[in-house]
Amino acid sequence: MPITDVAKKQLAQRHRLFYKICRKCASRNPISAEKCRRCRSRNLRLKNRELGTK
Ligand SMILES: [Zn+2]
Repeated sequence: MPITDVAKKQLAQRHRLFYKICRKCASRNPISAEKCRRCRSRNLRLKNRELGTK
């Protein structure tokens, strides 16, 4: 089922880009996370890409 709602699609794309990655176990964490949810390391890096230079 294709997503036809543009607003929802943009929201989904935004959420896909804004997250933190653990340097230790490489798991994805929410942007608000301070610690990794998997290994509890605080060694997170931000994956915070700008949206679409189309
Ligand atoms: Zn981790």
